[in-house]
Amino acid sequence: MSPRVKGAVLGLSAAALFGLSAPVAKLLLPSSTPLVLASLLYLGGGLGLAGLEALRRLRGSGASGREARLGRKDVPLLLGVILCGGVLGPVLMLVGLQRLSGVTSSLLLNLEGPFTILLALLVFGEHLGRAGALAAGFVMAGTAVLGFQEGELHGDVLGVLSIAGACLAWAVDNNLTQRLSLKDPLALVRTKALGSGVCTLVLAWLTGQPFPAAQVLGGALVLGFASYGLSIVLDAYALRLLGAAREAAYFATAPFVGALVAVPLLGERLRPLDLLAGALMAAGVVLLLRERHGHMHTHAALEHEHLHVHDAHHPHAHPPGTDPTEPHSHPHRHEPVTHEHPHVSDLHHRHKH
Ligand SMILES: [Zn+2]
Ligand SMILES: [Zn+2]
Ligand SMILES: [Zn+2]
Ligand SMILES: [Zn+2]
Ligand SMILES: [Zn+2]
Ligand SMILES: [Zn+2]
Repeated sequence: MSPRVKGAVLGLSAAALFGLSAPVAKLLLPSSTPLVLASLLYLGGGLGLAGLEALRRLRGSGASGREARLGRKDVPLLLGVILCGGVLGPVLMLVGLQRLSGVTSSLLLNLEGPFTILLALLVFGEHLGRAGALAAGFVMAGTAVLGFQEGELHGDVLGVLSIAGACLAWAVDNNLTQRLSLKDPLALVRTKALGSGVCTLVLAWLTGQPFPAAQVLGGALVLGFASYGLSIVLDAYALRLLGAAREAAYFATAPFVGALVAVPLLGERLRPLDLLAGALMAAGVVLLLRERHGHMHTHAALEHEHLHVHDAHHPHAHPPGTDPTEPHSHPHRHEPVTHEHPHVSDLHHRHKH
């Protein structure tokens, strides 16, 4: 499977697991507030992944156990991820939700996808050709159609700015996570989820939000393990393989999975508009899968650490004592090389076009 297709499968699986969380949470926590819910889901994700890590240590687990570790140099980016994704995003969302009608805010919350793509292209040096942009456009149009409901579209400017600000914070979070995506995804997401979970928990406590009963709490933690733990690990792999712009397009299909699951789970019905949304998203995904990008390009010299095999990009020698089992991970230098092959905007492809 090519990295492009593998990234698509991982991104879509992450979206499916994440999409589940909305209808299941509705069932589980009808009386909970968004902040308490976010906190429990993050904590469930973080604690679950800590459990997986313990299992991995006990049993030894091949390549995934040899991923590059997070180091001291990664701390600023990690703090940025937790601040944007775990503090700014939830707080701004909360302010917005209080000032806007439900319909308005759910429509506006779809801005996370387009913001992630714009930041990736304008700030983080990713490239999305015409075909890729068209594909992403289809998926984003689908999310807008899906979010559209009859109802009051009203609210004030501060409310609109707050929700847009929350989406921008999550877009920064996605792009910073992409910068870290060559490191062990399990450790990366565990740190992010635990950090964000604790921050939102403190915020919920400070603002005096009610907590649910113990058995509901347990259910929320389990749901969090699937939708904020495993899902985000799959998403981190997708970010590594595809870059943030393409990952955002695949991940934006999540609400459609939520709408589908709500049919048997909550007895909701799909409207004709939902089917249109599904069709737009499917068209976008197919277009993105068919997108091809390849040309003569130069890999700049680069020194960093990640899991690798000794392919054309890795002709380095090893210091004595290095475990030669492939894939393995150690700090290494990429010498500049110019050649032609298909590629997407992963961390090894930030050339100008
Ligand atoms: Zn290129
Ligand atoms: Zn590299
Ligand atoms: Zn390398
Ligand atoms: Zn190359
Ligand atoms: Zn090596
Ligand atoms: Zn290349």
